[in-house]
Amino acid sequence: MLSETYAADLRGAFIAFGVAAAVVGLLAATFAFRLRRSSRGLSRGSALALTFIALAAGGTAYWWLFLDTYYRVRATEEAVELRLALPDRDVRIPRAEVARFAIEPAPRGTARLVIETTSGHRYYSPPAPRTNRVDAAERLGNMMKPDMNQIAERYVRLVLQVGLHDTDFVDAYYGPQEFRPAEGATPRPLDTLVAEAAFLLADAEAVDPGASPDELSRLRQRYLVDQLRAVHTRLRMLEGERFDFEEESRLLYGAEAPVNTEASFQSVLDELESLLPGDGPLIERYDAFRSRFVVPRARLDRVFTTAIDECRRRTREHLALPEDEAFTVEYVTGKSWSAYNWYQGGFQSLIQVNTDLPITIDRAIDLACHEGYPGHHVYNVLLEQRLVRERRWIEFSVYPLFSPQSLIAEGTANFGIEMAFPGGTRIDWERDVLFPAAGLDPAGAERYYDVQARVERLAYAGNEAARRYLNGDITREQAVAWLERYAMMPRDRAEQRTRFFDQYRSYVINYNLGRDLVRAWVDREAPDGNRWPAFERLLSSPRLPSSLR
Ligand SMILES: [Zn+2]
Repeated sequence: MLSETYAADLRGAFIAFGVAAAVVGLLAATFAFRLRRSSRGLSRGSALALTFIALAAGGTAYWWLFLDTYYRVRATEEAVELRLALPDRDVRIPRAEVARFAIEPAPRGTARLVIETTSGHRYYSPPAPRTNRVDAAERLGNMMKPDMNQIAERYVRLVLQVGLHDTDFVDAYYGPQEFRPAEGATPRPLDTLVAEAAFLLADAEAVDPGASPDELSRLRQRYLVDQLRAVHTRLRMLEGERFDFEEESRLLYGAEAPVNTEASFQSVLDELESLLPGDGPLIERYDAFRSRFVVPRARLDRVFTTAIDECRRRTREHLALPEDEAFTVEYVTGKSWSAYNWYQGGFQSLIQVNTDLPITIDRAIDLACHEGYPGHHVYNVLLEQRLVRERRWIEFSVYPLFSPQSLIAEGTANFGIEMAFPGGTRIDWERDVLFPAAGLDPAGAERYYDVQARVERLAYAGNEAARRYLNGDITREQAVAWLERYAMMPRDRAEQRTRFFDQYRSYVINYNLGRDLVRAWVDREAPDGNRWPAFERLLSSPRLPSSLR
């Protein structure tokens, strides 16, 4: 515990100054009214004005010098306790609400120690020689050095506050109810939240990672720093600030997608030309070819369920998952995405599949692996089990969408497809099981996946469309044309994709760049080719892109 009283007689000084200000005001009034009665004459209005000015000057000086000035401070494990001078009262600030300590210059070369709360309120020490105040700040700062659990709690509360301004921001939350903003409460203003995010980021950076006992704790600190940088950035964007595509993706996701030119996709397009010979634009030939592999709506649920069961079976061969994990599937329309996993906590997910557009057979495994096993559902389940429940790391109970965690989430979800179906095992299983379940001719499977493998190599073309569109270099119509030409997206899908750009912006890089960064990391960690243990470590740790390289 740290306790400090600033010159006990200081309170006397506050009162003395207040009394002096009042006396000066009274003298000024007496003088003014005497003058008025004397032969030189002063109008009644001027006398009143003079009195008013004297009182206002005294009051302002008093207010400026002493309002919210404390003359005693005590720092304990739980709170900073202040004794304010006038009016004489105690203020208790829980540690989680102390945003920062700062030294501010005061008159005649002195300094004041400022204690700022997360709601933006400031309390001042009396002025004193600067070195004294620096010492005090250091002692207080050391005493109050936030630990990771406190930063984590403030982070959760902050993310939930941002959610009141941005309905896309909080993707999942299953932590304590009392952290949620009160029902119907007015959202805290954006500029306050921006300041708070900045303070919190500085606090998280100040925690000494060397003091942490193990690798996971060190990763945890980096996690909080990187996530907070993203929260701060998103708040600035909500305030109206705009970044270019590269800077935005670096600040939000901790990564930058490589720039690709038209020429870099040409060789793949040439291969597709020869695989899909005929007249008319390539995209139309591809679209016609693809339409032969659409799963009939009536069989969709059966196909999807079959795919999920297989993905779960294959994942469980390698990962120990809690017995009661499960999810439900819903079919929805009118969304800018094709599927979404809403993690509910308690090892449960809600997976929504968008049926606005026809769903081809390849999407069954893609979605089942990506949204379910070993993708989003498994990632969330393992984080809840290993970090939230076992370690009580509360920050993992909230998932802010526009943050580096999304690169890991989307990257592991996409890479999860090749984890569950390594090598050529996917085609074999689809031909033997899934094509018949969908009522499709299994003889077409080989050629279909030949074509799909080429289209997959065009994934980065989507980033280029987003980059140019969001940087304002091309219009929406041009972005649609680019997606049709270089990403092999039929017009309706390309249009859906530009709506995704509007809503989620540079988030697009998380899918393909994320997958490639995750694959590179897993392969580096598993030189013997045994990928599952490394993949499991990634799925159950706070590791973010900054720790992938
Ligand atoms: Zn996803």
